[in-house]
Amino acid sequence: MKNFEVYKLWPIEPVKAKGCKVWDREGNEYLDLYGGHAVISIGHCHPTYNSMIKEQLEKICFYSNSVINSLQDELAERLGRVSGYADYSLFLCNSGAEANENALKLASFNSGKKRVIAFKGAFHGRTSGAVAVTDNQKIVSPFNSAHEVTFVPLNDIKAVELEISKGDCAAVIIEGIQGVAGIYMPSEDFLRALRDVTYKYGVALILDEVQSGYGRSGKFFAHQYSGIKPDIITTAKGMGNGFPIGGVLISPVIKAQQGMLGTTFGGSHLACTAAIAVLKVMEEESLVAKAAELGNYLMSELNKIKSETESNAIAEIRGVGLMIGVEMESRFIHVRDKLLFEDKIFTGGAKSNIIRLLPPLTVKKEEIDRFLSSFRNQLAKI
Ligand code: PLP
Repeated sequence: MKNFEVYKLWPIEPVKAKGCKVWDREGNEYLDLYGGHAVISIGHCHPTYNSMIKEQLEKICFYSNSVINSLQDELAERLGRVSGYADYSLFLCNSGAEANENALKLASFNSGKKRVIAFKGAFHGRTSGAVAVTDNQKIVSPFNSAHEVTFVPLNDIKAVELEISKGDCAAVIIEGIQGVAGIYMPSEDFLRALRDVTYKYGVALILDEVQSGYGRSGKFFAHQYSGIKPDIITTAKGMGNGFPIGGVLISPVIKAQQGMLGTTFGGSHLACTAAIAVLKVMEEESLVAKAAELGNYLMSELNKIKSETESNAIAEIRGVGLMIGVEMESRFIHVRDKLLFEDKIFTGGAKSNIIRLLPPLTVKKEEIDRFLSSFRNQLAKI
C-alpha cells in the first residue's frame, strides 16, 4: 500500500529535532520558524515534555472515557488557571477540526438553531461542519455543503448584525487571528462589537484559537487583547506540542448533558500528560510573555527591512506576537523557497506570496536575528 497523495511535499525529511532546530536525513540543520505548522509551542523534544511522556508511557497510555481519569481534571484546572478561564469547562478531543465541530454542535444544541455566521477567508478544519464554515469552496464536498452557513467580511459588524438579526443563527465562529488566509486580524473594536451583538441576539460566539491560541499571539488567547469573553473557545495545535489533542472551553452558561458530546480517544492519559507538560513549561519559562516580547522585536525589525528595501519587496506585514505574516510583492515570492533550500530556514506560507512566521515560543533572539539577516540578504539578491 502507498499513502494517499493529498499533500504537496518538500523533498526534505526531518529525522531529529531539538528546540528550534531540525535535522534532515542527510544531517543538514534547519532553523524552524514554522513550528511544524504552528504546532510546536515549547520547542521540539523539550526535556520536561519528553520525560513526563516517557514516565506516563510506563504507567498507562489509554483507557476510555467511561472511567475516571484524573489527568483530565489536572489539565482542565491548569488550563483554566493559565488561560484566565477557570470558570469554564473543558471538553477534550483530538484535533482542531474536531474541536470546532464539537463547538458548533454545542452552540446548535444550546439554541436549537442551525445557521452559522462565519467570515470571508476563514479556515476552521476539514470535518463536516468545520469545513462548511471554511471559506474555500475547493475543499467543501457536496456532502458538506448542506450546512447552513453565511460568510460575511471580517471586521464588518453591520454585515454580522444584518444576518443574526434574522433570528435563525446558532453561532458566529471567528478565528482569533486568521492564519491560513495569511494572518488577518479582527480588530479589537470589531471583537467587542461582535460580543455585544451576539449577546443582544442570544447567539453563541465561538472563538477558534486553534492556531492563534496557546500563547502564540503574546496573550494566552489572541482575543484577550480585546478583553471579550466568548461563549466557546477552541484550541489544538500548540496544546500538545505535536501530540494530537484538541479542546473546547465552554462557558458556564452552557450546561452539559450526558451523551451530548463524546469521543473514544479524546483526553487519553498520554494526550493529557503531553498537554499538562506544555502548560507546565509555558508557565515555568514565561513563554506567553516571551512570545509578546520577541514578537515585538521581530515585527519592528521586519518593518525596518520593509522601509529599507528600495524595491518595495514587502507589501505588508501583519500579526502580533509570534504569529506574523509577511506579504511579498509577486517578484519576491521565491524568497521563501530560497530561505529553505539555501539558508536552511523553515517558514510557513499562505496563498503563494505570504510568508507565515510561526516559530516555537522558545525561539531565541539569536535565532530570530539569523532569520532576519538571511531574509535581508535574500531580498538584496533579487
Ligand atoms: N482552525 C484553525 C484556525 C486552523 O488554523 C486549523 C488548522 O490549520 C484548524 C482549525 C484545523 O485543525 P486540525 O488540522 O488540527 O484539524
